[in-house]
Amino acid sequence: MLQLDDTQKAIIETVREFVIKEVIPVADEMEHRDEFPDVIVEQMKELGLFGLTVPEDYGGIGESLTTYALAVVELARGWMSLSGVLNTHFMGCYLINKFGTEEQRSKFLPKMATGEWRAALAMSEPEAGSDVQAIRTKAVVDGDDYVVNGSKMWLTNGLRSSLVMTLVKTNLEADPPHKGISMLIVEKEGGVAQPAPGLDVGKNIEKMGYKGVETTEMTFSDFRIPRSSLLGTEEGQGFRQVLDGIEVGRVNVAARAVGVSTRAFEEAIRYSQERKAFGKPISGHQAVQIHLAEMATTLEAAKLMLYSAAAKKSSGERSDLDAAMAKLFASEACHEICTKALRVHGGYGYSKEFTIERLYRDAPFLLIGEGTSEIQKTVIARRLLEKHKI
Ligand SMILES: Cc1cc2nc3c(=O)[nH]c(=O)nc-3n(C[C@H](O)[C@H](O)[C@H](O)COP(=O)(O)OP(=O)(O)OC[C@H]3O[C@@H](n4cnc5c(N)ncnc54)[C@H](O)[C@@H]3O)c2cc1C
Repeated sequence: MLQLDDTQKAIIETVREFVIKEVIPVADEMEHRDEFPDVIVEQMKELGLFGLTVPEDYGGIGESLTTYALAVVELARGWMSLSGVLNTHFMGCYLINKFGTEEQRSKFLPKMATGEWRAALAMSEPEAGSDVQAIRTKAVVDGDDYVVNGSKMWLTNGLRSSLVMTLVKTNLEADPPHKGISMLIVEKEGGVAQPAPGLDVGKNIEKMGYKGVETTEMTFSDFRIPRSSLLGTEEGQGFRQVLDGIEVGRVNVAARAVGVSTRAFEEAIRYSQERKAFGKPISGHQAVQIHLAEMATTLEAAKLMLYSAAAKKSSGERSDLDAAMAKLFASEACHEICTKALRVHGGYGYSKEFTIERLYRDAPFLLIGEGTSEIQKTVIARRLLEKHKI
């Protein structure tokens, strides 16, 4: 089981109390209005959550991926979209810290640690999601600049971010194509919607769930940025960098899934003792008990897989297999748990008055983001065949 030190315990306890006091009372209504949680995000800044994993030398708290994952569980228990505001930022911090130059680390990380600058991640495109190597956005060298052209899709935090970790092709002829992929740190000062000539951020895309946090397109038309915006010093490293970043992203999705599932279970077990049918609380009916037992057991398994994947990635060990398995299992479990919790609520579960209606709409995104379940299975199988090669 998970061994936490005193600092980790204190951080998680603080986040848990914050969520109970500030998030749970307002989350349903804000979600129904698709409202960005400005006040809550300011409070998250004050708690230091945007710098949780940023090294202390750059003004952060310097905590591990495990601590981050546990904080995400608590936030997602309150409202999954809060972990959305945090996560592309966290991935940006991770990528800059791990692959950036010292100049890039000292320029970006201190402002990112406070949340003054927040990051988005632009990997997907209208014609390329699972197949990352098929991206078409290109960056061509012109003097001291890159000239960027192309379109990105599904940018979480596309509007309010100040920098966008953007995957581009710097060599269109590279074979295999991933060797021509690089990552650029695109700055858009102030995080405004129309930040610079040649850079256009689209409107918030209306979604089924995962509301409040914005999701946008982003178009580059002869957009110029200095060559020093390349993450690291060498072109052609972007695919490797993003795959590394996605592993921590997958642990984050597993953590969100555990948070949402925890809340769904809590809502269901409480409701089952309040609602009466056939002369007794529905929790007295064996069919409902079976739902509760299955939900709790699956949730426990998801937690253990999350802890194990987070610990392995934190230790620096290769963890593509563990991260993919944890993401796959926890997200599918969350979908199943939310469906069961909805069943336990009967007709009321279909009403916006009950939190389960929101959780039920949030859960499917976890089957898609940071790689679909189908893609996780291809990653898992590939790695297993590599490990057990005869
Ligand atoms: C709300 C939201 C927020 C997002 N935020 C971001 C973000 O911040 N940054 C970002 O870069 N992206 C983001 N994404 C994009 C997300 O990562 C992609 O949607 C996801 O990777 C799937 O890509 P796709 O939608 O193009 O689906 P496709 O790749 O077109 O897949 C469609 C279907 O085909 C299946 N499929 C495809 N290839 C295979 C294969 N080889 N084997 C088996 N099945 C396959 C998929 O599993 C899926 O079922 C976000 C998406 C959403 C919905």
